[in-house]
Amino acid sequence: MEEYDVVVIGSGPAGYVAAIRAAQLGLKAACIEKRQTLGGTCLNVGCIPSKTLLHSSEMYSKVKKEGKHLGILGESLSFDWDLMQSRKNKVIQGLGLGIEGLFKKNKVVKIIGEASFKTPHVLKVGDQEISSRFFIIATGSEPTPLPFLPFDEQKVLSSTGALSIATIPKHLAVIGAGVIGVELGSVFQRLGSQVTFVEFMDRICPQFDTALSISLQESLTKQGMEFLLSSKVESADLTSGVELSITAKDGSLKKLKADAVLVAVGRRAFTKNLNLDKIGIALTPQGLIPVDSNFKTSHPHILAIGDVVDGPMLAHKASEEGVAAAELCAGLSPSLEYFKIPNVIYTYPEVASVGFTEVELTQRGISFVSGSYPFKNNSRAKCTGEEDGFVKILADKTSDRILGVHMIGPHASELISAGALSLGQTSDHIGHLCYAHPTLSESMKEAALAIHKKAIHK
Ligand SMILES: Cc1cc2nc3c(=O)[nH]c(=O)nc-3n(C[C@H](O)[C@H](O)[C@H](O)COP(=O)(O)OP(=O)(O)OC[C@H]3O[C@@H](n4cnc5c(N)ncnc54)[C@H](O)[C@@H]3O)c2cc1C
Repeated sequence: MEEYDVVVIGSGPAGYVAAIRAAQLGLKAACIEKRQTLGGTCLNVGCIPSKTLLHSSEMYSKVKKEGKHLGILGESLSFDWDLMQSRKNKVIQGLGLGIEGLFKKNKVVKIIGEASFKTPHVLKVGDQEISSRFFIIATGSEPTPLPFLPFDEQKVLSSTGALSIATIPKHLAVIGAGVIGVELGSVFQRLGSQVTFVEFMDRICPQFDTALSISLQESLTKQGMEFLLSSKVESADLTSGVELSITAKDGSLKKLKADAVLVAVGRRAFTKNLNLDKIGIALTPQGLIPVDSNFKTSHPHILAIGDVVDGPMLAHKASEEGVAAAELCAGLSPSLEYFKIPNVIYTYPEVASVGFTEVELTQRGISFVSGSYPFKNNSRAKCTGEEDGFVKILADKTSDRILGVHMIGPHASELISAGALSLGQTSDHIGHLCYAHPTLSESMKEAALAIHKKAIHK
């Protein structure tokens, strides 16, 4: 039987990173993956394909709609969905080969096959038995279906099906206006679909700062997307196209017809076929693997990380846990700052957030002051014609330490790293740093200065 120091199950951003870090630390490491390709949800059917299609569709729609304003005449512009798909597939393939290369470089053993526990100390992959000092479960998550609307990936799409759909639907209904819903809805709206969201909550992307979700909804509505908020899909008729029966909060009933429906109501942890019940690991009521602050399950040599454990289902959170879990197996004492994990929506405009929101600070009884700055006053945003949105910084009223940074606007996904670095610094310090001109990041400076009413261009 093959024996290792660390065996990781799953090669997503949690698993492959854990395997590489373990090998860097001199541990004999293997990574088992049931797909034929490495990279998990994130690379194969998540972050990367969605961002690739968001980019292609944004370039197309920008030139088509705003080209004239920018001095580019693109009225006769067209797009080729098959070419967008093949570019997406090439990006996935290239990055997958990159992980293969990193495994070779670091001497991580790749094993393709589905792993299940035979005993707490032995895994089975096909006919192969594998033992290890430590196991790290990083088996990720899968789209949650609605009980009355199972995925057929033709008319009833999961995010996975939507990313590879053969033709652009004329009318797409999206159940769930969360991050994945609004990102994929944006792709199809830009390419000609009429997109209608049905959302149970009274605002979209409700985990974000309220002003950000309201502003995002306004922008997406301006682009042509429609929203039915405080509305619940009760049932669906698939006889001809898709017909959704919806109840609004006030009790009124509505029917929504579409050619296809994307069900984007969330993701659930994936633990199928691991045999966890046989080795005495019981799941939480939400289906997650319970772990302590060191990612240890009820068996201290079996750790679990990423989407399969509690916390935001984000690739960068998963990877940080991968590094920390590998370091714990090597006897180190890593620490993770969950408070500093950014959250991004890659729509146009982009939305990004790090630290506490106003609602969270109020709930914790923390007094704070807020400073904001609109991109319409920023000279770089004027140059590029991307003036929608703002940066908002929240700082502790007494200490002036920055507790949260929230923004909607151009390249917010990149700017938020500056926001993460600013957490714990005083707003005075961030406001007095020198930023290159003309840059969007000058909006960070101005928002920090605005806390003490010292913004120059506001
Ligand atoms: C459409 C979409 C867009 C997204 N966009 C973003 C984004 O922009 N930014 C972001 O941070 N996050 C994004 N996410 C979320 C992100 O993809 C996940 O948070 C991340 O992939 C979780 O990583 P993980 O390693 O925990 O699990 P996964 O990436 O799900 O990887 C788990 C792997 O384990 C394998 N596996 C499962 N069971 C077994 C077994 N028994 N044996 C062997 N292998 C097994 C699976 O095949 C899979 O490859 C997106 C998700 C989706 C669906």
